[in-house]
Amino acid sequence: MSATAPTRVSEHNIASDQLDNHALDVIHKLNDAGFDAYLVGGCVRDALCGVIPKDFDVATNAKPEEVRALFRRSRLVGRRFPIAHVRYGRNLIEVSTFRQAQHDNIETNAQGLIVKDRAFGTMAEDAFRRDFSINALYFDVSSNEIIDYVGGIEDLAAKRLRLIGDPQQRLAEDPVRLLRAMRFAAKLGFTIDPNILDHVEDTAERLEEIPRARLFDEFLKLFLSGYAVPVWLTLKETPLVRSLFPSCNPDSRLVLNAMRSTDERIAQDMPVTPGFLLAVLLWDDFCSRQLEQNPDAKPALNYELAMDTFAVQQQHISLPRRFTMFAREVWQLQPRLEARHPRQIPRVISHKRFRAAYDFLVLRGAEDSKLEECGQWWETFQHADQGERKNMIDNLPKGKGRKRRSRGGSKKKSQTPTNEFGSDYNSSFNK
Ligand code: ATP
Ligand code: MG
Repeated sequence: MSATAPTRVSEHNIASDQLDNHALDVIHKLNDAGFDAYLVGGCVRDALCGVIPKDFDVATNAKPEEVRALFRRSRLVGRRFPIAHVRYGRNLIEVSTFRQAQHDNIETNAQGLIVKDRAFGTMAEDAFRRDFSINALYFDVSSNEIIDYVGGIEDLAAKRLRLIGDPQQRLAEDPVRLLRAMRFAAKLGFTIDPNILDHVEDTAERLEEIPRARLFDEFLKLFLSGYAVPVWLTLKETPLVRSLFPSCNPDSRLVLNAMRSTDERIAQDMPVTPGFLLAVLLWDDFCSRQLEQNPDAKPALNYELAMDTFAVQQQHISLPRRFTMFAREVWQLQPRLEARHPRQIPRVISHKRFRAAYDFLVLRGAEDSKLEECGQWWETFQHADQGERKNMIDNLPKGKGRKRRSRGGSKKKSQTPTNEFGSDYNSSFNK
């Protein structure tokens, strides 16, 4: 199949000013050294779909070591198949050497999963090694042509995600391809070939074989690329959601609302963090653990139970500690935001996770009118001046905003319950 002559298309909507100068520089340098080099993958696909590409990949017949030798600011990464990363300041161009398509050169384990495939090939072979037809289009910058070996142009026009080759085999080689299908379908509004969807169940199970760190990377791409809502809506209807987030209720309104707000933040160039999404995805599980242990009280955060919640999730996707810490801090602030004890308020509002915890409370409030009122209170409080803040605390419903003694006399201990900060905390708001 690799002997097939490709289709070459010179009428397309890719304008040269859409292309990244650094990627073009890489291509020109490789050409000058006598190598072939093309733009490939997501950047060609996105540009053809009228989406601004987020990064640029180059494919070449130069071996990784040859690329490395040509670019001073480059290094080789990847064990399975080394590729060169060429750096231009903060911009990174990935340069990969054409890979072989023949499956006998690829080492697979008993289940067909690729374990090692360091085998170089021709451009045609490289095309057939890629996942989806729309990801296997090459752009030749010198002739201004799209080169298509696999029917990608046709699938792009039909807005169709089709795996190259036999879907069952391609998914067995790498189950992550299914997650990629969901992501690209959501991003581009494409439909997934029914032949792929036939294998969802098997593939979901086989995600367990994938290194958990890779799944974390994929988790980031799925939900922090600006189209978390369509990704989630697709994913939650499949067994994939169980493989990725076993303790999460797929119909949780909180999760959907959080996905929506994540997309909105990305659209507005506001910062987003996976820590927040972890807090959202694992919240129900954490709450039911707390409730089970202490059904009567609204307890402060139980550290052990938070860790248990993360431990279950860690068996599926590895979670860097800074993000579980973030989630834990957001959870820890929830009961304090709800309680609004005057003594805690200054500490809460100056907490480094206050803003995230407040956003989390607001999302929870969308389903609960009492919490909604609480969220509005904090919204006003944040923007109020000292005098207004004092009034707000004084006007809190009985049992919440009781005034602290601020003049003379001994401090009466614990009109509000002692909190974990101890009783030596001096409020600056009531002065
Ligand atoms: P995006 O960068 O928007 O996530 P992309 O298609 O560029 O999308 P990358 O992960 O950057 O995705 O991969 C670059 C290219 O490498 C893909 O377009 C595809 O051709 C190939 N590729 C990536 N992952 C796989 C895979 N798991 N199996 C086969 N080919 C892959
Ligand atoms: Mg890419």
